[in-house]
Amino acid sequence: MSQEFIPPAKPIIGDEERRAVDAVLATGQLAQGAEVAEFEKEFSQVLLDGRAAVAVNSGTSGLHLGLLAAGIGPGDEVIVPSFTFAATANSVALTGATPVFADIELDHYTLDPASVEAMITDKTAAIMPVHLYGHPFDVDAIGALAAKHGVKVFEDAAQAHGAAVNGRKVGTFGDFAMFSLYPTKNMTSGEGGMVSTGLTDVERRLRLLRNQGMERQYENELVGFNARMTNIHAAIGRVQLTKVGGWTRTRQENAAFLDANLSGVITPEVAEGCEHVYHQYTIRVPEGRDAFAQALKDEYNVGCGVYYPIPNHRLAPFQTDDELPVTEEAAQTVLSLPVHPSLSQNDLERIVEAVNKLAKAGS
Ligand SMILES: *Cc1c(COP(=O)(O)O)cnc(C)c1O
Repeated sequence: MSQEFIPPAKPIIGDEERRAVDAVLATGQLAQGAEVAEFEKEFSQVLLDGRAAVAVNSGTSGLHLGLLAAGIGPGDEVIVPSFTFAATANSVALTGATPVFADIELDHYTLDPASVEAMITDKTAAIMPVHLYGHPFDVDAIGALAAKHGVKVFEDAAQAHGAAVNGRKVGTFGDFAMFSLYPTKNMTSGEGGMVSTGLTDVERRLRLLRNQGMERQYENELVGFNARMTNIHAAIGRVQLTKVGGWTRTRQENAAFLDANLSGVITPEVAEGCEHVYHQYTIRVPEGRDAFAQALKDEYNVGCGVYYPIPNHRLAPFQTDDELPVTEEAAQTVLSLPVHPSLSQNDLERIVEAVNKLAKAGS
């Protein structure tokens, strides 16, 4: 096996990011300050059509503080997918509320509105769907359901920077939304998160919760955290923000090439009116997925990943007897192939050849 390994994800950090960090270090103003404020303003303009953005130290903090700021706590139920990264349910549980798991639709791996409706009780306070893999959840159906039952909608947009529905950006639909800035996401600040909200009282509580409950120094108004982003991280994020649009176009071109050339596997579908930003390019291998993934790595040196092999409702902290058959099927059959913007044409051709050969051998 002489060919180089194709990694499943690859953060792109260039000279501009290095220079921006250096400039912050030179000022000596390392903690949250002007750089963070500028990052919030720019993120709002570029990705949120002007909706307010509040920077925090991780995506998980963003969900947790967003839930607290929106008034979620003990006694509340929040409906979430089981087919997601555990941070979604963790953040609900950390508020003292109960995460309630609903099933997904197999076409887009996002919450199935019919399953969500079946889980609504008189304790349901909110629905928090995930724009999984960079594909928007069904914002119209979930929005209609929330209005009908008088519950809130929060968006886990950790994987969906720039995704949109009929031209409207994700992150502008819910009472609040969270974007992760972890290194493998579509853009990064090192670690970090951005919370958007159109509600001024939620925005104010977010800013208080992030900084020990203080707006003015030593005049603490509530019990809060230290969840601040540093100027150093914001400097990286600001540079990345100028590049994420181009990277997304490259991801979409890479996905189009894979769509057109893969055979023998189930390729991702994009719902009518949706812009998919391909945080992951996720296929399904109906039989023998694990052996397929192993062979892709061992025989072809093509990296890949399973997101996520164990549904949240089967994990120790959240164990339930819920039957979520579509979630179970997805967990057993999904496989994400490299789609990141650093892939060369040769890489893409190697991925196609490897997948098609393995699919043919397995059929
Ligand atoms: C990455 C991720 C998170 C958590 O973000 P962090 O920045 O890693 O804390 C939450 N939800 C989903 C769906 C994610 O992919």
